[in-house]
Amino acid sequence: MTEYTTRVLETVRTKNAHEPEFLQAVQEVVSTIEPVLSAKKKYEENCILERITEPERTIIFRVPWTDDAGHIHINRGFRVEFNSAIGPYKGGLRFHPSVNLGILKFLGFEQVFKNSLTTLAMGGGKGGSDFDPKGKSDAEVMRFCQSFMTELQRHIGADTDVPAGDIGVGGREIGYLFGQYKRLRNEFTGVLTGKALNWGGSLIRPEATGYGCVYFAQNMLATHGDDVSGKVCTVSGSGNVAQYLVEKLNQLGAKVVTMSDSNGTIYDPAGIDAEKLAWVMELKNVRRGRIKEYASKFAGSEYREGQRPWSIPCDCAFPCATQNEINGAEASTLVKNGCKLVAEGANMPTDLDGINVYLNSKIFYGPAKAANAGGVAVSGLEMAQNSQRLDWTREQVDAKLHDIMKNIHENAYSHAREYSKDCTADFTNYVVGANIAGFVKVADAMIDQGLV
Ligand code: NDP
Repeated sequence: MTEYTTRVLETVRTKNAHEPEFLQAVQEVVSTIEPVLSAKKKYEENCILERITEPERTIIFRVPWTDDAGHIHINRGFRVEFNSAIGPYKGGLRFHPSVNLGILKFLGFEQVFKNSLTTLAMGGGKGGSDFDPKGKSDAEVMRFCQSFMTELQRHIGADTDVPAGDIGVGGREIGYLFGQYKRLRNEFTGVLTGKALNWGGSLIRPEATGYGCVYFAQNMLATHGDDVSGKVCTVSGSGNVAQYLVEKLNQLGAKVVTMSDSNGTIYDPAGIDAEKLAWVMELKNVRRGRIKEYASKFAGSEYREGQRPWSIPCDCAFPCATQNEINGAEASTLVKNGCKLVAEGANMPTDLDGINVYLNSKIFYGPAKAANAGGVAVSGLEMAQNSQRLDWTREQVDAKLHDIMKNIHENAYSHAREYSKDCTADFTNYVVGANIAGFVKVADAMIDQGLV
């Protein structure tokens, strides 16, 4: 570590002592961009690290709502507007009981670099609430969303801050949030992405994060003349990202043997084919059931209560549930069992020990910022369609997603080759490459715009 990065990290640790996920995300970025900080002194001279680790604005608010029995509940709402150097704040809303300021700051910080990598004009932000949509009726979710948006609407707008979905926020929630925004502001604008197709949504947006992550994996494998066809894959999660990631892996001839939720994992050695996946989608999206029901439905599969998928041998692993779902020991087990590629659909699913295991083992590792950027990229395309009042076809959007993931891969690859000493003929450090590529664009824009 240099004197500059050590000093900045110390300050960030002191100021944010109770936010472990945020500190983890900052450490991962700061420790990997040192080569560019040493090569270009302008970043230190302009205090870019000190500024980029501090959100531009943080909004915290009360969200009161009533349940179906008339009881009053109070949740906490947040929006972290992290960085607007290259465009309006953009990033999802998460509704989950674990949500707190530190988690949203980590997500917002990651989003700044991810959005930069997409090459689209989007700054970084993130928001949400500790509200738990699980087990709530549609009417309760609607009342919560309306109360949440009643405050949030003061702070967002199509050219200011454009939220989207994340854990616990899917098409249903975006609909209720949009309806309330429109009612209060009396304007029909692209203020949220992830909208339904019949009122301003983009084709391929639901699929984009999962599909994009597979495209990124394909790009990594292509550097060795390989692809995902025939590979045995483990996937965690069974939500939006996991579902479409499994769909794309199936289409490309891979075999997916696991999915999971926060209670446990299902293992199906025969593979979760298109028909079984359709059943999972109905289970999760319509009936809002639990993944363990899969094992009763499909003979030959089993449910492992309280377990994650990482002890099951695979060629490729795709964590698509949540942060820190792979630790150092689990990463070692993956590698020991023959895993050659990890591509992250979730945000920061691997802890710092786990990342070191991947890098030391020289497997293909696609970090979240690069590998899951397809979702926000297609959100950017949704914004472009909204502002032009145009609807692109499925093929047009998918082709653009393909191109964006290819460009992100090339950008991360070339920055890794330029700055990382670990790269060899057979190994590319995509962590260094993605972090530096994402950082440089934002940092240069911050310098151009003066001390704001
Ligand atoms: P969903 O809410 O649709 O699905 C989340 C899935 O992860 C569910 O299966 C859920 O299980 C599981 N999960 C959530 N929390 C935990 C936990 N603490 N432990 C174990 N499993 C958990 O969310 P998404 O699919 O949209 O998001 C998944 C990940 O992808 C998140 O990290 C998100 O930030 C990231 N991401 C999402 C994007 C998007 O476009 N949606 C874009 C980029 C990244 P359960 O039902 O039991 O809660």
